[in-house]
Amino acid sequence: MIQGKNFIGGRWKETPKTYQRENPARLEEVVGLYPLSGEAEATEALVAAREAFPSWKRTPLLERAHILKEAAKRLATRGDKVARDIAREAGKPLLEARTEVRRAMDILEYYAAYAYTPFGYRVASARPRTELRTQRVPLGVVALITPWNFPIAIPTWKLAPALILGNTVVLKPASLAPVGALHLVQALEEAGLPEGVVNLVIGPGTPFGRALEKAEDLRAVSFTGSVEVGLRLKARLASLATRVQLELGGKNAYVVWKDADLVLAARQIAQGAFFYAGQKCTATSRILVHREIYEAFKETLLQEVGQLKVGDPLEEDTQVGPLIDSTAWEGTARWVERGLRDGGRLLIGGEGAREKGYFFDPTILEGLDLKALLAQEEVFGPVATVHPVTSLEQALEAVNATRYGLSASIATRDLGIAKRFLEEAEVGLAHVNQPTAGVEYQAPFGGSEGSGYGPKEQGWAALEFYGDWKTLVITPPEVRDGH
Ligand code: NAD
Repeated sequence: MIQGKNFIGGRWKETPKTYQRENPARLEEVVGLYPLSGEAEATEALVAAREAFPSWKRTPLLERAHILKEAAKRLATRGDKVARDIAREAGKPLLEARTEVRRAMDILEYYAAYAYTPFGYRVASARPRTELRTQRVPLGVVALITPWNFPIAIPTWKLAPALILGNTVVLKPASLAPVGALHLVQALEEAGLPEGVVNLVIGPGTPFGRALEKAEDLRAVSFTGSVEVGLRLKARLASLATRVQLELGGKNAYVVWKDADLVLAARQIAQGAFFYAGQKCTATSRILVHREIYEAFKETLLQEVGQLKVGDPLEEDTQVGPLIDSTAWEGTARWVERGLRDGGRLLIGGEGAREKGYFFDPTILEGLDLKALLAQEEVFGPVATVHPVTSLEQALEAVNATRYGLSASIATRDLGIAKRFLEEAEVGLAHVNQPTAGVEYQAPFGGSEGSGYGPKEQGWAALEFYGDWKTLVITPPEVRDGH
């Protein structure tokens, strides 16, 4: 069993109260015992980060990069163990858990590379013999709040850009799956990260949020999670000089145009909607199919979905694992009921067995109005709706007519259609002949409209959030009267 602890000021610490985390695929198995941190632990961590900042900021950039690279190596030595822990705790199929761990290592290396690239600008000054340049500087203490569904990749894609720029960090992973963050922080500690530079606080969100409101010198908060929690947090931090970045939910559409490769589109939708039981912010949840091929495509899609392997995440061929907990299972069942009540018809799935674990079958409904709640709101489970469309205008209107704006795809062989879709889909991530789910860390990522707020994450865009531009103006002392 994993014995998790907080990591504050360079020390692993227990708390008076703890909680247990069960394996969502085998309910009798306890996978972790974790600290139930409150406001006091969060405040202690914020103070430790503040104390560590002056020295970390002055640490040479190349030294910071070495630590990130070394942490990637440390993760590599225990990669399979990390993937298995994630599979057992977050219910993520092993295949995807391994990819996620690999991605975390790549992200550490990617941001380490910042140290070896030219940066900053020199611009012409209007003043004689004056040097005018600008350089990126760290902000100070940043708090990172992460969800449970990418337990190591999301903490890493926030932490690595924050650290390379010289910020110090308090990381709060979701209490349902802290194990990824735990391995990441252990790898950084082994890599020689000085004490206080990264602090890990495990426990529920509410007391952590309260500590942030009262923190001294908190410069930024990066949050990934649900729309409701994210917006509430932003409102509560509004009176502080604290930057806020929100990465929120999605209601992602996949358009199957009449000329599409139907088998490819069906496979991408099956993967995008149902791998990891649809528990991805970029999961496909609305399938918009050109009316001319609607019936043929439906058949192909049902064949693909019928072949998906639902099972224990630790089995090598599992593609669809359990839902994260009983609340998610019940919520998913309620969404299906709601869809049926609103006029939807089940094409496949619709129920799940929860005796052994929180399993729910891949589910597709048709016949729902696009304005129905199930076609508008995020389920975060293996449920998708399918709708016929007759024109690109209608498809685009449907893609854009939700409060979200995260990811969207179209399957087509027509370059003109593809181009219009890319231009007009109001999302942060638009695809042609690719699933809605799937993110590459070297490019900016994040939602538009109701799916995100603030600068994007990943790629070079992350540096905008975790750094500030400082402009330097230098004139030699002998220059007087403008000469
Ligand atoms: P959640 O909003 O319930 O929790 C996210 C994090 O916020 C957790 O660490 C939680 O403990 C913390 N939290 C809760 N209340 C808080 C408070 N008052 N103050 C401070 N922190 C608080 O989300 P979740 O269930 O962990 O994750 C699922 C959601 O995340 C889905 O909506 C999904 O779409 C979204 N998500 C978005 C992205 C993205 O990049 N856009 C990626 C993954 C997941």
